[in-house]
Amino acid sequence: MQTSANPSLSKSNVQKITPKQPVRVRRPSREEALEAVRTLIRWAGDDPDREGLLGTPDRVVRSYQEFFSGYDDDPVALLQRTFEETDGYDEIVLLKDIRFESHCEHHIAPIIGKVHIAYLPSNRVVGISKLARLVEVYAKRLQIQEKMTAQIANTLDEVLQPKGVAVVIEAAHQCMTTRGVHKPGVAMVTSRMLGVFRTDPLSRREVLSMIGTPAAGSTQNV
Ligand SMILES: [Zn+2]
Repeated sequence: MQTSANPSLSKSNVQKITPKQPVRVRRPSREEALEAVRTLIRWAGDDPDREGLLGTPDRVVRSYQEFFSGYDDDPVALLQRTFEETDGYDEIVLLKDIRFESHCEHHIAPIIGKVHIAYLPSNRVVGISKLARLVEVYAKRLQIQEKMTAQIANTLDEVLQPKGVAVVIEAAHQCMTTRGVHKPGVAMVTSRMLGVFRTDPLSRREVLSMIGTPAAGSTQNV
């Protein structure tokens, strides 16, 4: 593991893309949300009062609570409990294939894929279930894949202050497969490299080979 590059060099040119907490908005009442779904059913051309659709607004509103539960969680607080007794472990920690479901903020269509998270600890590590929870918090919001990739990497970087962070996301966007250009089977790959994974080509190559993503050579860096 080569760590000769200076991580502070990379931090200065990494732009923090978004705040941890989304802007607070006034939440409509449940009744307003139900009425909005009824409106969309009429917009689709159907009758919200026919028997088969009577329970649909309620189901959609409850689904939204599940799909978008990440707005109520604070990702920084989630990572606060870290462990310092690592007996000098100073190699890459990698959690692969964390499945996620999100929704694109342009069409509210599902984005389904997996996240790979790696970091090179300086002296603190975090429980692996917390990494999976971190993915959930950002996935359960209206998203674009590039932003989600950056948010996960930036939050880990800020809280753990490791020597390096690498986040790679591979996902299929249903707004591309079920509408618009109708291109099934297309996966988008995004990555965010911080610290030594950004500045040191050897470290970057090592982490990408551990992640083993087929498109690692042509990922879109955010
Ligand atoms: Zn979309």
